[in-house]
Amino acid sequence: MQSSSETKKRSFESMMMMMMMNDASNLTPDQLDVFKVAMLQNTIAHIDSGARMIAIMIIKEVAISLKKQLSKKKLIIFLTPTRKHVEQQFNVLKENTDLLVDFYHGSKVTTVDEKKVDDWDAAIWENEINKNEAMVMTPIILLNALRNKFMKFEMICLLVIDECNLATGNHPYVSIMKEFYVKSVNKPKVFGMTASLETKKGVSSTGGCEAKITMLENILDSRVFYKFNPLIQTYFWNKKIDGKNMQICTIQKRTKQEDVKPPAAQKKSSKIAEEPASGAGTTKRKELHGTIPIRAVSGTWGDKVDDGVDVYAYKISFVCSVKDVKYSSFALLLESKLDDDVANHEMKLYLVSKFVNCKVSSSVKLHLDAEQVAKGKCFQDMFFNGIFARFLPKTDQKLWTPSYMYLLLPLESLDPFKISWTMIDSCVSAIEFVKKPSDSIPDKQNIDSLMTCSESTSMLNFANRSVHKDDVTNMVVLTIHTGKIYSILKVQQDANADSPFDGDTKKFPSFKDYFKQKYDIDLVYPKQNMVLLKQSHRAHNLLVDFNNEGILHGKKIKSESCKVNTDRQRYYARLPPELLIIIDARIDVVKPFYLLPSLMHRLESLMLASQLREQITGHMTDIHVSSSLILEAITTLRCNESFSMERLELLGDSVLKYAVSCDYYLRYPNEHEGQLSSGRSLQVCNSTLYNLGIGCRLQNYIRDMAFDPTRWAAPGQLPQRPCPCDHGVETIEVPIDAKYHNDDPKVLTGKCCDMGHRWLGSKTISDCVEALVGAYFVGGGLTGGLHCMKWLGISCDLDSSRVDEAIKIASLHSYTPKLDVIQSLEAKLGYEFVVKGLLLEAITHASDQDQQVGYNYQRLEFLGDSVLDLLITQHLFNKHNIDPGELTDLRSASVNNENFAYAAVRRNLHGYLQHHSTSLQTQISDYVTFVATSSTDTNSLQTKKSPKALGDLVESIAGAILIDTKLNLDEVWRIFEMLLTPIVTPDKLELPPLRELIEFCDSKGYFIKDKCRSIDDGVVAELKLQLEDALLVGEGTGPTRKVARGQAALKLLSQLEKQGILNKNHQDNNDGEIANKNIKESDTVRSKRTRFDPQPAADTIMKEESNSKTEIPVLKSIDSKKGVPRSSLYELCRIMQWPMPILTASEKKSRTLIEVGEGVDKRTAFNSFESHICLTIPSYGVIELTGDPRADKKSSFDSAALLMLYELQRRGMVKIE
Ligand SMILES: [Zn+2]
Repeated sequence: MQSSSETKKRSFESMMMMMMMNDASNLTPDQLDVFKVAMLQNTIAHIDSGARMIAIMIIKEVAISLKKQLSKKKLIIFLTPTRKHVEQQFNVLKENTDLLVDFYHGSKVTTVDEKKVDDWDAAIWENEINKNEAMVMTPIILLNALRNKFMKFEMICLLVIDECNLATGNHPYVSIMKEFYVKSVNKPKVFGMTASLETKKGVSSTGGCEAKITMLENILDSRVFYKFNPLIQTYFWNKKIDGKNMQICTIQKRTKQEDVKPPAAQKKSSKIAEEPASGAGTTKRKELHGTIPIRAVSGTWGDKVDDGVDVYAYKISFVCSVKDVKYSSFALLLESKLDDDVANHEMKLYLVSKFVNCKVSSSVKLHLDAEQVAKGKCFQDMFFNGIFARFLPKTDQKLWTPSYMYLLLPLESLDPFKISWTMIDSCVSAIEFVKKPSDSIPDKQNIDSLMTCSESTSMLNFANRSVHKDDVTNMVVLTIHTGKIYSILKVQQDANADSPFDGDTKKFPSFKDYFKQKYDIDLVYPKQNMVLLKQSHRAHNLLVDFNNEGILHGKKIKSESCKVNTDRQRYYARLPPELLIIIDARIDVVKPFYLLPSLMHRLESLMLASQLREQITGHMTDIHVSSSLILEAITTLRCNESFSMERLELLGDSVLKYAVSCDYYLRYPNEHEGQLSSGRSLQVCNSTLYNLGIGCRLQNYIRDMAFDPTRWAAPGQLPQRPCPCDHGVETIEVPIDAKYHNDDPKVLTGKCCDMGHRWLGSKTISDCVEALVGAYFVGGGLTGGLHCMKWLGISCDLDSSRVDEAIKIASLHSYTPKLDVIQSLEAKLGYEFVVKGLLLEAITHASDQDQQVGYNYQRLEFLGDSVLDLLITQHLFNKHNIDPGELTDLRSASVNNENFAYAAVRRNLHGYLQHHSTSLQTQISDYVTFVATSSTDTNSLQTKKSPKALGDLVESIAGAILIDTKLNLDEVWRIFEMLLTPIVTPDKLELPPLRELIEFCDSKGYFIKDKCRSIDDGVVAELKLQLEDALLVGEGTGPTRKVARGQAALKLLSQLEKQGILNKNHQDNNDGEIANKNIKESDTVRSKRTRFDPQPAADTIMKEESNSKTEIPVLKSIDSKKGVPRSSLYELCRIMQWPMPILTASEKKSRTLIEVGEGVDKRTAFNSFESHICLTIPSYGVIELTGDPRADKKSSFDSAALLMLYELQRRGMVKIE
């Protein structure tokens, strides 16, 4: 029911709207904000008035883009609940837009035969749809038209929903969204309008209101955008502040009584806006999300190739670090044109003892005819399947899908570009041979009879021809019984098919018996020598210098090659030549197949990054951020790449804080610091960033799983380890719904199902938002950062006219009486202010307000805090190529009030503070004396609390210079770099004593007990540290627990140092080497390499060895016998005092018999086990690996343990003899 006043208001509004020509200048700034946001993403405008005006603006904007794309019929639908409103809105649209529009409600009839809308058939509807661009209707009309399939939901490009608060229960709004919107692939933009959320009858509690908002947002797939208390004038996204909503409202109301509240208390209150432990944007909450398909690898030429296809061919060449190792060049054939920085890319791939430089270079346009496409597919099918799994002669067309379509073909020459069609042809003819096994047998015998006549002993009979024994080395063969590709190492002079079988000799006395029983093959030439073959059944991750190759080997081989370095051991097999088809491919064409999965993974990742870049920047040419940088921003630590988002995230955090601070400072010249900072904390808090990320569908771009080559498959390749979806989501994208949230710590994040769904930490999304802003800042400066923020939905206007406004206000301060103070300070700073009033404001303490000047430094301090934070973070980011953990530590060591206060005293700035407080004067004097008398040891400095006003002073001066220079960050840095020197650098970094102590104890497995008791004027802290042979006690006192604990920790550290347990020779380290020992607190293994093009790992390992204080343990050779790898690993952990590794086995069931394991461990079974191992190494990190599939659980444990030992060896943490 509408109240009459509301109806009146509405018709007035409509009238107004018709009267005004509707363009942006008619919108108030508030409405304009809503409009901008609504253009970016689905929005529910919850404002008192003007929502319809905004709707018209949106419709106009969408209509413009509609007219550009004429290809498909698209409709704008305006839904409003009553007939009266339908007609009203129709008139408004007709008057204000040039759209072809009509209205539809229950009383609507056709003009010709006056047929009621309910009786319309498909033909009438089709006519109506065709003649209109926009339709205004009641929701029930739309619902019925959709249900009867008179209208396709996909046609709708914009859905405006008036009075969307009605969308509850069985309302047609809900049905439209649930039955059609959720299921549609091309979802329309949604704009909802409501004037009443809280005020709705029946909603008594604010908790109910919150739930209602959330529900409405979920139903409409939109975010509510509305204004809170007009006092704070802060817009923010309401969604999921999780019950804190009420508190925020109260805080903001409380700040009304600004005059009675001391500023410090207000600042504190803003912290209440921090997130709860398990809401959106927190680590605890996990959410199911999809992954976005990579557009660049899609292609329609999978099936329709009659006329051939035009493709872009990208050249791929390989150069190995070992000179004699040659790899054939390849071409990647794609239908899409890649961005230049993806198409021209170099990377290193790491093999056992060498690396390969891969170079992808620009494209050649190419036409393939239908036959070439078919042959190319055949070639790719055989090699990828034959090498990594097994080749089945029947090609499975389903493996070539339009969403994943490319070819990798060998090149005869790179320049001039020429594909090796002759080789591809001969490979294809080998496949033809496999497809007709029956015909081939007589052939074979014919050849045989010929051969035996001449030189039977020197010729070997292969399935398709005979070859001289001396010529077989390096030949590439395909087994007819298993479809696997091998290369021949040599002829086994001492073995033939009558020799004892490698495995179970009781079951299969000889190879001949084995093939008979297992494959029903009667060997024709059991007496001819077998050949020794080399093969890899697994693709490896070569992007990081992993070395998990060569764990398994046959018994015989092992005894033969026991002196060979374990790294060198590979998979071998012995087979009779007659089971092998010779493929006329050179060995250098086969070799790149081991590199291609890793190479393609990286390329696909870069394509994904450039796809996201296109989303953000479109085809803007002035902001260019490299795809590698964006890739870094969407890559988590879990991916185990040599780069990840953490560093960019830190930088992005500072950029966001700066931009929002600056925007608020300029936008609200009359708000005080407390108000500004609560607004800012809401804007940059994790749950807000999370919502922005979700709004831009960023979650689907995040990479959160290490490259698993066994899950990777080229087009045409059978998936090696399928992982069917059991999430109950039929679409690629997972809807945003609470039922896909989980707080259970046992839910594993990262691993994707075959649909691409995976559980993602909610916080990862907000982290990624920050990292992306960081990447755009690095690539495109502040303009880039602001552009990215705008895309995300944070509009910060740092316009010069607004700065002029701020300058105008400050220029009114009367500074003449204090001109000498100002000039003297300017000289100290080495900067002369244009607007002296700014500097005066910056040095005026709140206690000076007795003089009724009406300003103090707090607003400038608010601004300056964010400026220094950004400048110092940027400085550290650029200067030190250090890992994120270290960067965090350096930042918090540099950007803190203590550090600034110290700088203020050292530079003699404290005397300039204008205040009228005797207690502050005493504090300052005390602190100045303390600084003067203490050593430069920052550890002791941090235990003395500095007066906050001194740190504030430094910050507010930074804010003043920023405004005075009209936001010239470089100029601010020029002055502050000097002022703050020495900026903390890695070699000077000292951790706060307590943290250093805790990290030391963690690394050694020692425990600290902590007791605090209050005394008259403070706290006494007692720390007890239990060593193996002694108990150390440290006691400290201080005004707060923190200070007291710090003092106590300092004492314990010096005791440890005296006893020689703790070695503090940081001076010896220069290149941030200290990070390896002290700062690491990562929960996954951090790579020291933070960029692309990592250094060869050998260097890194050498460094670790030469710097480590403890000796590297040595293990005697590891036997792969059951139980031995596990006990070896356990023993190692005991020696190293590492926590026992965690082994988890998972069982894989199969409907058919599968082969599990290799060599002696080879079994056939219905089930297999695969174990995951997780080893936590104190103060280093966590290493996680997955072993090979085995027939039983315990063997799978051994496989994982064995891999772990080799991984530890590779990392230089153990030596295996
Ligand atoms: Zn799934």
